Amino acid sequence: MAENNIIILIIVPHSACQYDTITQRRCDKRAKSSAMALLNNIQRLNSKAICILYANDNVDRRQIDMNRNISRNTSWRRNLSLVFEYLKKQNNNNIIWVIDVHSFPGYDYKTNTDVSKFGKKTKLAILDDTKYSTWHKETEALFTYLINNVDEPDIINLIRGSKNDIQDEARSFGFTSFLIEVNENKQQLQDKTLNELLMLIAKFLLKYKP
Ligand SMILES: [Zn+2]
Repeated sequence: MAENNIIILIIVPHSACQYDTITQRRCDKRAKSSAMALLNNIQRLNSKAICILYANDNVDRRQIDMNRNISRNTSWRRNLSLVFEYLKKQNNNNIIWVIDVHSFPGYDYKTNTDVSKFGKKTKLAILDDTKYSTWHKETEALFTYLINNVDEPDIINLIRGSKNDIQDEARSFGFTSFLIEVNENKQQLQDKTLNELLMLIAKFLLKYKP
């Protein structure tokens, strides 16, 4: 690899949707398609960017949640560690991003419930698991960039998330990481708007210097 490449690893830990049932939500329905759309947008802007999609299509999140420390010894997490090690070894001048992509059910207007507690208007949430009083700086920069570039800033929400072991591991390698959650309800977030948001994230990724 040449020097100063940008490498973007997009991770989808909850994409095992074959186990989803009508009564039980077991996966993130819109996460993998969003990850792929983000990847396409990045490559449209910069064909030299190295993009890797790493999805978990086989293990139901109710069996084991790949974002938690308990999953470190699963083959999916061990392979991810190998990818991290490989990327780290290539070249220290690379900018390496690890993006954790999820989706949430959205607001249920029939029952007036907000299962995800992300807020009624939220189309895209950024979760940050920092244990300090300030956000990680890349998370805050992404949030600021998005609210400054959308017509209605209150569709973007920055929320404190649970401790995230994939991001913890990525940061231990010196990689830069953020987590996004997209609204799964297509009436609340149409594909066109979602793609515009993902294009903004792609622009941010190619612009921001960690
Ligand atoms: Zn998820």
